[in-house]
Amino acid sequence: MIARAPGATALYAGGMAIVDDLESILRSSHHPLTRLGMDAVGLAAELDAAVSTLQLALGKEGLKFGGGWRSRGRYADIHGLARAANVVPESVAPGELGALSGKRVAVIGVPEVGDYDAASTAQALKELHSVEAFAEDISIPDLPQGASLTDLYGRRAPSPRARGAAIAYPPGFTNLPDDGFELLASPPSPHGWRLQQAISLGVVNAEVTSFETSRGRVIAARDAARAFRADAFVLATGRHIGGGLSAARVTTEPLLGLGVFYEGLPASGAGTRMQHLKYLDPAEEMRLGLITDRRLHPLNEDGTAPYSNLYAAGAMLGGYEYGGPCGFGVPILTGWLAGRYAARQDS
Ligand SMILES: Cc1cc2nc3c(=O)[nH]c(=O)nc-3n(C[C@H](O)[C@H](O)[C@H](O)COP(=O)(O)OP(=O)(O)OC[C@H]3O[C@@H](n4cnc5c(N)ncnc54)[C@H](O)[C@@H]3O)c2cc1C
Repeated sequence: MIARAPGATALYAGGMAIVDDLESILRSSHHPLTRLGMDAVGLAAELDAAVSTLQLALGKEGLKFGGGWRSRGRYADIHGLARAANVVPESVAPGELGALSGKRVAVIGVPEVGDYDAASTAQALKELHSVEAFAEDISIPDLPQGASLTDLYGRRAPSPRARGAAIAYPPGFTNLPDDGFELLASPPSPHGWRLQQAISLGVVNAEVTSFETSRGRVIAARDAARAFRADAFVLATGRHIGGGLSAARVTTEPLLGLGVFYEGLPASGAGTRMQHLKYLDPAEEMRLGLITDRRLHPLNEDGTAPYSNLYAAGAMLGGYEYGGPCGFGVPILTGWLAGRYAARQDS
């Protein structure tokens, strides 16, 4: 794995949205999971394998996740706003909002921290989700002046005075008590940072600037100094944060000039219509991206797959809602399959 820096994965809020309804996904013809050419049963079998393998692999790195793609819960972030997720860190799981109903919840505040207010989080939990929440401030005097949430990262969770309540902590603490859980984050995210660290072990740190290709195959990825030769390549360079797509008047894929599509048509042809759409609803721009054939080979604008040993996966694929119910489902499932197809080279 070659990466130049952490990407969007390091910023995720802390709850992986995998899928909501497979049947409705399959009705959307441009969705990356529909383009795999599987029926709902086939997709379900692959999701079972991909998600459980991921959970096992992350567990080995000391990052335990609960839930599964078939179940869905709602979890509050540091502002008390809810987000739906299928797979969550074990430190987040006890904070599922349905499971908190009828319980008292102490929301831990740290008065030295300026970018988080436990009292308003507790109020939001009460007003928005009918959770019996109250704030409890615990001072941590050795924090730097003007401390922020990031300064809590890696510190031992302080114990509250309140007894008999579930305890909601801002994310980042370690050694949570049995009845404690972490809230979801807004960037920068301790959940994302832990995930990034768990998946980054063994990464070669390099910026790929070009590819060598020959007769419909990719031969090597190059950075400024080296060529990385391989039999197959998976392009998983992300979206705008990762750098896999370059946003300009027309969004492009910078490394190989692969086709970027909107609703199944080349985005370059959408012209000023795309500009208007972006203006009216920025989420529309986030539906732009690469499209792939059934074996995850990325396509050129003319609809042909230029390289038989190149596969594409992750958030660089278009046709789905980036911040929606498949936020991590698309990267996880296409990553799993692209790796398998690349290893077997069965185009
Ligand atoms: C703020 C934020 C919060 C989110 N929260 C959630 C959430 O709570 N739940 C959810 O399900 N989804 C969430 N998402 C979406 C989810 O995080 C992304 O869809 C997912 O992480 C994308 O993974 P990826 O591997 O495809 O891309 P990335 O994680 O962006 O990885 C791309 C990688 O490619 C590397 N790269 C790019 N170009 C090159 C190059 N030329 N050479 C070498 N390396 C290169 C980058 O450095 C990076 O390491 C969130 C996204 C954001 C931005």
